Amino acid sequence: MSVPENTCDGLVVCSACGEVLVCDSNGDMPDICPNCNDKIEWSQWQDPCEEVGE
Ligand SMILES: [Zn+2]
Repeated sequence: MSVPENTCDGLVVCSACGEVLVCDSNGDMPDICPNCNDKIEWSQWQDPCEEVGE
């Protein structure tokens, strides 16, 4: 299980391998890293858009 990380240039990457995570054609983010097949724990992820205003 890995927690996704935000990069300074606005991407979301797998914390285990650094793979960039992008949404699919349905707009859904992957539940499993496409590179290392680790489960992505989105519940631990802080959306940077929601941090604004703190
Ligand atoms: Zn990965």
